[in-house]
Amino acid sequence: MSRLIYFDNNATTSTAPEVVEAMLPFFSRRYGNPSSMYPFGGEVAAEIKAAREKTSALLGCEPREVVFTSCGTESDNAAIWAALRTQPDKKHLVVSRVEHPAIAANVPFLRKLGYRVTEVGVDEKGELLWDQYLEALTPDTALATFLWANNETGVLFPIEKMAEAAHDRGILFHTDAVQAAGKIPLDLAGTKVDMLSISGHKLHAPKGIGVLYLRRGVKFTPFMIGGHQESGRRGGTENVPYIIGLGRAAELSLANMRDENTRVKELRDRLEKGLTTAITHTRVNGGGAPRVPNTTNISFEYVEGEAILLGLASAGICASSGSACTSGSLEPSHVLRAMGVPFTAAHGSIRMSLSVHNTAEEVERVIEVFPPIIARLREMSPFWKGDGPAEDQAMLTCETGGCQVCGV
Ligand code: PLP
Repeated sequence: MSRLIYFDNNATTSTAPEVVEAMLPFFSRRYGNPSSMYPFGGEVAAEIKAAREKTSALLGCEPREVVFTSCGTESDNAAIWAALRTQPDKKHLVVSRVEHPAIAANVPFLRKLGYRVTEVGVDEKGELLWDQYLEALTPDTALATFLWANNETGVLFPIEKMAEAAHDRGILFHTDAVQAAGKIPLDLAGTKVDMLSISGHKLHAPKGIGVLYLRRGVKFTPFMIGGHQESGRRGGTENVPYIIGLGRAAELSLANMRDENTRVKELRDRLEKGLTTAITHTRVNGGGAPRVPNTTNISFEYVEGEAILLGLASAGICASSGSACTSGSLEPSHVLRAMGVPFTAAHGSIRMSLSVHNTAEEVERVIEVFPPIIARLREMSPFWKGDGPAEDQAMLTCETGGCQVCGV
């Protein structure tokens, strides 16, 4: 079996050895409760303080504005519910059509509870429809929440400008920056962002630790009601080892930011160019928009994403697909659909997301392995003949049921 090539860092990252090392003592000899009055606990509290400072440096904010949570999803939910509970007279939220489920799955639930939710669209490059955004902001709007970097395409929304527009209208602004933190510089003190979510396992800390940034002065009611931890903003005894790990990961992320935006970006660009040159009928989804440096989303038309993934997996390559057919849904990715990507392309979309641990050799290997996989799958596709799409393109799609691309 060849060595694993891990190109799925938007799904999760490896925990950095330096992070593991920083965490280890807090699983064993340094087990004190940070709330305890004796030094054995107080010394742990001091380490949490240091981790908070390191995390705030990554975010460009004050340490007291950092609230440790259990994950990005908790931070997102905490932001939504704080906005609604602190402004009971406001019954409207604004989100995008391309949010991660940590936000998007709240939408039907909120509607059931009687809230109005406006979903702002994107153009074919994945960029926000600005006029639609401004129109959606009303005096009844409690919260505008938009992801900073899209987890599927890496496309960036103009969060600073969006937060300013919301702020001018007296509307709270939250951003899910889970895929942005560590990839682009964040300087929250210089923005009008009120709340922001990040997740440790996307930046080489372990799974199960997140942060909610809460601008000083923003009204808040805790999502987790309990003890006085996190200055009363998140009850529950602190997950000390993971907080320490996140602090160390934040420090490493800052140190690696340059490598991420130069070498990793060059690797991503080489991967994209290599594949789109070697294989016909491809498209880079979001390629024309500002993006984080590590992510590419490429459609290989007339084949099915899940089948590509199987081919890649047998060569030891980890990536992910934008088609959800095998998960029991008949719909391809809601993000690609919102961008108007045709079904034949959306079905064959593959996301590859790199990190500072990837190498040029790995990129060259993937460029070598890919073309025969696509050629083999196209040979079997009813929509492909010889070296191009078959003449008869009429087909059933996922939308109409009985999808002929993926066989569902
Ligand atoms: N938001 C975005 C944009 C994500 O990509 C993810 C994870 O994939 C989450 C939120 C959820 O983060 P967590 O896994 O820490 O709950």
